[in-house]
Amino acid sequence: MFSSIRGRAFSRRDVIGLMGVAAAGALASCGADPPGKSAANPARAEPSTGGSRRAAGPRPDADDAWRRLVAGNERFADGQATHPRQAAARRRSLVGQQRPIACVLGCVDSRVPPELVFDQGLGDLLIARTAGQVLDEAVIGSAEYGVAHLGVPLVVVLGHANCGAVTAAVEAVRGDVAAVVQAIEPAVRATRVDDDPKVYLAACVAEQARRVATGLVERSALISDAVEREQTTVVAAMYDLRSGRVRRLT
Ligand SMILES: [Zn+2]
Repeated sequence: MFSSIRGRAFSRRDVIGLMGVAAAGALASCGADPPGKSAANPARAEPSTGGSRRAAGPRPDADDAWRRLVAGNERFADGQATHPRQAAARRRSLVGQQRPIACVLGCVDSRVPPELVFDQGLGDLLIARTAGQVLDEAVIGSAEYGVAHLGVPLVVVLGHANCGAVTAAVEAVRGDVAAVVQAIEPAVRATRVDDDPKVYLAACVAEQARRVATGLVERSALISDAVEREQTTVVAAMYDLRSGRVRRLT
């Protein structure tokens, strides 16, 4: 389960390479630049003049994308989810291309599936999930694929309450999650201890999400360039299991 975290089964280049192969056909089919060319300029990953198979409507900026996620999260939290864009027609419209509005780096936790939490549909979110949303080369490469090849305007690092991986790090449990615990330890060490274990754990999760957001930009020249050019925005957010609501941390 954690092989790609513990070992180095995938390099970042492997991920971009593998996904780029798939993207090459998809982008070519809707008239975009080939991935190699568009990687130098994420904004060009989308065709300026699309064919009939291109998704309709202008691409949202980071604020628009965040507003859409918040609106979807409110529907979900209120029990009013509409499960949009999941019909067969939507599926068919995405065969040749995709244009997600955001990349979400989240936890593997079964209670926090980003499509449900944000009430989004097919083709809306590019998602990478690891325990405790720990960064590794494969995750960074996946986010880079979203930013460079698909031009996503927003990257959300989504932590959540009651995170087992962060709990394990807090308790310094060793075992199957050793690599994950090790990756989260710095966030735990940086968080001020609180007498209330729930408050302390939530603070650790928030710190971990903020660190992953910062680390993603620091460890990826491609993403930091895209942030500098205002082609994408990286934010950290926190999901509450009880209320179902996501709140922004950065
Ligand atoms: Zn978790």
